[in-house]
Amino acid sequence: MPIYEYRCDKCQLDFEKLVFGQDEVVCPTCGCQVQKLMSACSFKSAAGDFKTSGTGKSGCSTCSATSCAGCH
Ligand SMILES: [Zn+2]
Repeated sequence: MPIYEYRCDKCQLDFEKLVFGQDEVVCPTCGCQVQKLMSACSFKSAAGDFKTSGTGKSGCSTCSATSCAGCH
């Protein structure tokens, strides 16, 4: 099942949601667009912009590791 983690910048709310295809995901609290977090990887908002482009890369941009084993 494609469960992804998302974060709302406005509410600082982290939540998980089942997503099929390219469904648009919005914050359940404020309805704003949210950032998609890479699965199983801690995400620092200072690291930049993970926009939902559908690439589905599994690498981590918050650390130098190619997998997220070292940063979670
Ligand atoms: Zn929100």
